[in-house]
This record gives sequence, structure tokens and C-alpha cells, in this order.
Amino acid sequence: MEQLIQKPVKRNILLNPGPSTTTDTVKYAQVVPDICPREKEFGGLMKGLREDLVKIVHGDLEKYSSVLFCGSGTINIDACISSLLPEGGKVLVVDNGAYSTRAVEVCQYYGLPYIDLKFPVDELPDLEKVEQTLKENPDIALVHTTHNETGTGILNPIREIGALAHKYNATFTVDTTSTYAMRPIHIEEDNIDFCMASAQKGLMAMTGLSFVVGSRAILEASKEYPKRSYYCNLYQQYDFFQRTGEMHFTPPVQTIYATIQALKEYWAEGEEAKWARHTRVFEAIHEGLDALGFHDVIRREWQSGLVVSVKYPDDPNWNFEKVHDYCYERGFTIYPGKISTTNTFRLCALGAIDRPDIEAFFKVFREALEVNKIQIPAKYKEA
Ligand SMILES: *Cc1c(COP(=O)(O)O)cnc(C)c1O
Repeated sequence: MEQLIQKPVKRNILLNPGPSTTTDTVKYAQVVPDICPREKEFGGLMKGLREDLVKIVHGDLEKYSSVLFCGSGTINIDACISSLLPEGGKVLVVDNGAYSTRAVEVCQYYGLPYIDLKFPVDELPDLEKVEQTLKENPDIALVHTTHNETGTGILNPIREIGALAHKYNATFTVDTTSTYAMRPIHIEEDNIDFCMASAQKGLMAMTGLSFVVGSRAILEASKEYPKRSYYCNLYQQYDFFQRTGEMHFTPPVQTIYATIQALKEYWAEGEEAKWARHTRVFEAIHEGLDALGFHDVIRREWQSGLVVSVKYPDDPNWNFEKVHDYCYERGFTIYPGKISTTNTFRLCALGAIDRPDIEAFFKVFREALEVNKIQIPAKYKEA
């Protein structure tokens, strides 16, 4: 019976920034007998899952905990910003891209005092300006930034920003959605108080489960902070876990089964080997682009190793939609960019893929260029 059902699923290579290509074992882990998540059997699964999520960032289980939500990754930004700002405090967002701007929008929606410290999207934040801002605004109680700005693929210096936040007594929250379980993170050494991700990115599981990993001491302290959201309050969700071992509201049951399987596969592959694989994929993406003459946006040494942001060529025949559709019909998904000032598309190194998948992709991508009479090597006005 089992063999009859568990046929291989058509394998698509997703080069978009998540959800990522998953293994069939993760896909099939969702096919389980129906269960009410309030049963002990299900509650028992949650404890190991929550601990594993802390262990991935090398957190000491005495000092750090994980808080789960049913939703996509943005729910984590919403929960952290709305829950971790004490009365009278201000938020500082170190902002060089679309995902940090999302945190600014969360501040605006909740009517929170904030400083949007903007830097160009293709540059690293100026740490002197960050420090000066902290010095001049002693009411900053929460500093937020993004680790890998998925819109461009730039990697921000979180350890240094975290050190500054702590020097000025602020809590440091980092959006690690597009590095967690890929690029190694050490929550304490990296000066992170709270980081976050969702199951469908680095963990290579399914959409619907998002989580924040953070300091128990600050979670406990936040009990006294103003409550600005009901569903997304971190302390309320943390406290419910502590008392009952369950999520406060209905969990994404099948996604949790898939995530538990994905975690098994994560530990089996190992942190170092997994990061080495993503690096291989990233390098193969660069080799393929270089061979076709495509230009990228971010200086190579600043790239996260997970996202490549590629400039549209200056070719009258270039048409992202047509190239996309040609690749998509053959099982490869490429993704539009997220920079308002430059036309770009993205190729990402997430998911259960390896170098041969990228080599296969570039065969199809080259065909797509040829079919659409787009010049090879790609033509650019500037050198
Ligand atoms: C994917 C991602 C998110 C979450 O986006 P959703 O659209 O809610 O899935 C948040 N931050 C970063 C940096 C991301 O890459």
C-alpha cells in the first residue's frame, strides 16, 4: 500500500527566494493519519521541534527558546516589533533593503515611534552612523535589521550592529529568514537577541510555520510591555508554550510533520556540509551567469552566498516574462527582482538542489535566450 502511494513527485528546481525545492520524504511526511493537535501525541512532537529550532542557531536551551506561529515569515517581523518595544521606547531600523523596509512599515501600522536609518540597497550600512544615531537617541530600545537582504543578496554585519545595540542597552532583533539553517548562525556570539525564519526556506519544509528564536530573559521582561497585537504577541505565545507545551491557536499540523522530517534531514546532512552545498550552488550560479555575460548588482565580497541579483541586459529582445515562461515549462523557476531603481531578476541557492541542477538550468536558460534572440554574451550599455 505504502509503495503504491509514495510515487516520486515531479521535481521542480525553484531558484526563487522560497519556498524552496523539497525532498519527497519531506513532502510525504505530511501524509499522516488525521489527528487533533490537542492530543498528547501531537504535543509531544512540539517539544523536540522547538528545541531543535534553538539548536540550529547554537542557542543554550536554558537561555533561549523558540516561539512558533502559523503564518508566513512576515508574521515574525510583526510579532517581534509589536511585542518587544517597552513603553516610551523607540525602534531603530538599520535599513538597506526591502525586508528591513517591511519592519519600518510594521512600525507605521502599529503607530510606534521609529527611526528609519536608510542606506543604499547596494551598500553595507555605515556603522558609525548607526552608533551616532544610538548615541543621539537614548530612547532607542529596539534595533532591527535583516541578515541577508533577500531583495538584493547583500549580507549585513549583524554581529557588529548587535554589539552596538547592546552597548546602548537596546534589544537586537534580526530577520534571518533567508539565512537560518543555511549560513551558520551562533545566536549568542552574533549578539542576536531574537532571530526568525519560516519552515519553507532554509529548512526545506513547507509553508505555514514561522518561528522566532530568542532570549528567555527578554521574553519574560516583555510581559510588562504594551500589548499591541493579540494573535502576534510573543509573550502570550511563549507563555502558553511554557504552561501547556502547545501553540495557543491551531497549529499548521501537516507542515509541522514535514518540518520534523526536514529537521531529521538537516541533522543528517550537517550544518557544515549543508552550507558547503549551498555555496557550491551559489558558485555554479555565478559561473553560469559569467559564461553568458550577465552582470550582478552587489559587490561579490558583500554577497550572502544565497541570492544573486542580476541586471537585465540592455537588449531590445530581453523579456523576463518570456525567459521565465520558457524555463518554467521545463521545471525551473526564476524570480523577479526587488529593487525599485534597477530592473533585476534573482537566482537563489536555497533548497534541496546541487550543482548538477544549476548546470541543467543553464542549458535551458541559454536555450531561452537563443529562442528569444537575446544576444549572448548579454549586452550592457556600461562596461
Ligand atoms: C522570505 C522572507 C520573509 C518572509 O516573507 P513572506 O512573504 O512572509 O514569506 C521575511 N524576511 C526575509 C528576509 C525573507 O527572505
